[in-house]
Amino acid sequence: MSPAQGTVVLVEDDPNIADLVDLYLRRDGFRVLRAPNGAAGLELVRRERPRVVLLDIGLPGELDGFAVFRAIRAESDTPVLFLTAQSDEIDRVLGLELGADDYVTKPFSPRELVARVKAILRRTGQQAGQGTRQAAPFEIGGVTIDQARHQVVVGGSPVELTAREFDLLVYLGAHRGIVLSRQQLLDGVWGTNWFGDARTVDVHVSQLRKKLGTALPLATLRGVGYRLG
Ligand code: CA
Repeated sequence: MSPAQGTVVLVEDDPNIADLVDLYLRRDGFRVLRAPNGAAGLELVRRERPRVVLLDIGLPGELDGFAVFRAIRAESDTPVLFLTAQSDEIDRVLGLELGADDYVTKPFSPRELVARVKAILRRTGQQAGQGTRQAAPFEIGGVTIDQARHQVVVGGSPVELTAREFDLLVYLGAHRGIVLSRQQLLDGVWGTNWFGDARTVDVHVSQLRKKLGTALPLATLRGVGYRLG
């Protein structure tokens, strides 16, 4: 029988980092399967169907972390948490637009990493229909937000949002007419355990604007923050 928290696939070529992450996750009740390169990692993901994938970006062999991520995403919605080393990697992670907007920056504390993994599981568990959020659909501008169905509709057509974009939209919608600073949005949407910076918010806001267009009445107040409605 698997440990209570489920299986995590860890794709990381640095044995010191892998040992540390492995130790902490196992201590917290996870089953950890390790791969030292992208091809082995992808094979593990396909075979074991883990709850979360922890993915280094700079990997030996033909597949780097981005290639592994694209291959995973072509087949499933398995949550992916990137382990990034440089800020240009962070920019690329945030630019992926494919639902992997989670990353930790090396060097990270293993405790923080475990907290992040659990936060991802809480979020995705909720989406899987645990029924904790049953708010009625609401409309802002030309956008209809249906939390129960996890769906956003514009002009009669559903719009695909990543989990984080959806959470951001719901949070802005729940505070309609109120100016929210980037820090407030980080705390409210990403959680106070999040160690990213304000540009994370800006990137997600620009994605929302791109996907929802003029139907979204979202104002930028320069130097202050954002206001919806
Ligand atoms: Ca590496």
